[in-house]
Amino acid sequence: MKNIYHVLLLLFAISFTGYAQNSPVESMESGGDLHMGRNDANNPCISKQQYEAIEKSFAANEKTLDIDNKGKKKTTATLFSWPLKMTNGLNDCSYYFIGNYIDEDTTSPGIKDYNCGTVTYDGHRGTDIGTMPFPFYKMDHDQVEVIAAAPGTILDKIDTSFDKNCAMNNLTPNYIAIQHADGSVALYYHMKKNSLTTKTVGQTVVTGEFLGIVGSSGSSTGPHLHFEVWGTTAYNSLKDPWTGTCNLLNANSWWLSQKPYTEPAIVSASVDSALPVMPPCPATETPNEDSCYTSGATAKFVIFMRNETIGDSSHLRIINPNNTTFTSWARKSTTSYLNSWWTWTKVLPTVAGSYTFEAVYNGDTCTKKFAIGCGSVPNSITTTNLLQLRVFPNPANDKININDEGHDNGIYKFTIKNMLGQTVLSDIATITNNTIQKSISISALPNGVYFMIIETEKARTLTKIVKQD
Ligand SMILES: [Zn+2]
Repeated sequence: MKNIYHVLLLLFAISFTGYAQNSPVESMESGGDLHMGRNDANNPCISKQQYEAIEKSFAANEKTLDIDNKGKKKTTATLFSWPLKMTNGLNDCSYYFIGNYIDEDTTSPGIKDYNCGTVTYDGHRGTDIGTMPFPFYKMDHDQVEVIAAAPGTILDKIDTSFDKNCAMNNLTPNYIAIQHADGSVALYYHMKKNSLTTKTVGQTVVTGEFLGIVGSSGSSTGPHLHFEVWGTTAYNSLKDPWTGTCNLLNANSWWLSQKPYTEPAIVSASVDSALPVMPPCPATETPNEDSCYTSGATAKFVIFMRNETIGDSSHLRIINPNNTTFTSWARKSTTSYLNSWWTWTKVLPTVAGSYTFEAVYNGDTCTKKFAIGCGSVPNSITTTNLLQLRVFPNPANDKININDEGHDNGIYKFTIKNMLGQTVLSDIATITNNTIQKSISISALPNGVYFMIIETEKARTLTKIVKQD
């Protein structure tokens, strides 16, 4: 087997060198199904005992809060915004997939989602929204926030449970429940330990307000949000927010704007120094993404897809600094996947500058910037090549500006790191007239102290910056 592999590899290498000189890049496609943890009938999100405990807690807290008698209950219907958002410098094109809808089939083991499909498991009562790619990396770096889908009062909350589960178990989850003006309740389940809002039971939240970070606490096979809706505080008042032919629970959609049943898309297009490392649950993945490469080096061009559909085509392109095409290629989908990933190895351009990796699929364009000629920062920086740059305002609220004249032309790389040394933002700029004029949005970062590193091939500087409201 090994010998056959070697022969094939040799044949492949020979056939390649035949035309490699005429082709600007070499390419070899690999990838396929991207395994993401999804709960199933053998690993249900919430056990019977856990539902009993939740119902008991809801009833007790509702009585204490006295929501009924405060005249807060209105007949107005509750409408939901999307309960997740990406943050902390995540600049992918999306970040989620729907692993399971509500099971509308009351027979066992029959399953049917609101759209009469089978994206559910027997007895499932919520919408499972998983994060992708790199769900544990996203969780460790607080990159996907759970936010209030509708305004209301905190009815119940647990925040101190272990959060890296990979299967069904009886461990306590981290969750928050919000009761809305009409008496209905939304349950946000499986969150990261100690990530929840500091607000307590009885306090109110507005739509879009931070509730916590997507995690894998309770019975969970990987970081995801289980979003479940009850009409009242009673277990048997389940609602399905998705309107469709097979929704037997309620006629109307509870979404302000209901998303399509499937959303075929390129979630992330990245340029990587090596293939991403994706160990099994619960180990944290290593994305290996980089924005700086040396002239003529090779890099991995990687796309992560959601709902890839057979027969569809993706069009990929490396765009030169002057907007012409360095190289382009396409791939046709021969199989449908819930989640998939594809990678190509390419020899990079030799001309320094700011490039773009572009991936077009299903009418959407997903891009990622990278640079040639800024990849080799010297290890020892002497005072003669220390960059002196004006960074303002500092402290800053939404934007950090770097404006200065009389500097070397070339590629400048900007990296913002948090106090743990983790990169939370990175950007690049090409300086052509000895004048640096760069503005970096930091509005998505939590308040706190950060370090900004600005570097060229020859020099670098480190500036302490403070983000505050
Ligand atoms: Zn679930």
